[in-house]
Amino acid sequence: MTLALPELPYAYNALQPYISQATLLFHHGKHHRAYVQRTNELAAEAHLTYQSLEAIITKTAGQFAHQELFNNAAQACNHGIYWHSIRPGGGGEPHGKIAALIKACFGDYQTAAKQLKDAVMGQFGSGWTWLVLDGDRLEITNTSNADTPRAHGQTPLLVIDVWEHAYYLDYQNDRAVYADAIINHLLNWEFANQNLSRWEAENKDRTRYDAIAGIKQPI
Ligand code: MN
Repeated sequence: MTLALPELPYAYNALQPYISQATLLFHHGKHHRAYVQRTNELAAEAHLTYQSLEAIITKTAGQFAHQELFNNAAQACNHGIYWHSIRPGGGGEPHGKIAALIKACFGDYQTAAKQLKDAVMGQFGSGWTWLVLDGDRLEITNTSNADTPRAHGQTPLLVIDVWEHAYYLDYQNDRAVYADAIINHLLNWEFANQNLSRWEAENKDRTRYDAIAGIKQPI
């Protein structure tokens, strides 16, 4: 198959004033596009057949000979998650199942929000800050460069891009202001809830998760 660049789920100017149209035009139209194109080129050169980005990532993770293909496929995948992790009118207090899980695993939203910002600020060099399900527990974690939780058996719920190309046009080196803008005004909790629902449907044996989330299983 040949991968196509997925469209943004909103207009290029929809995230202003927090992320400018110029940033999205470069970030989606140049960076993300280049990762998709390079993935197609390298997969063809390697004569790899695959059905999805996830399949490429699984097939190439940890293999030095396929490192460039892994990096480009993982970056293409991570950006696809990132565009849905933010939205106009998002941010602030979560709702639904993710709110219950955050309360159970972090105590309260403010604690989780502080840990998210600390993770963004603590990433040395390029990378990503994630809210993931690790087994049946909610965790905040970072990956460096192109690495992705999908290569480590974790389920991504939300991600913040911590490469400089994500914020430098708008905030120059002030990563903290970018982190605040994302967390307070853009995070898409509905997307996290959709990812949780998909994981629940695929994982029927999840007694401990249900206990953590306060979900009653049918008798
Ligand atoms: Mn990026």
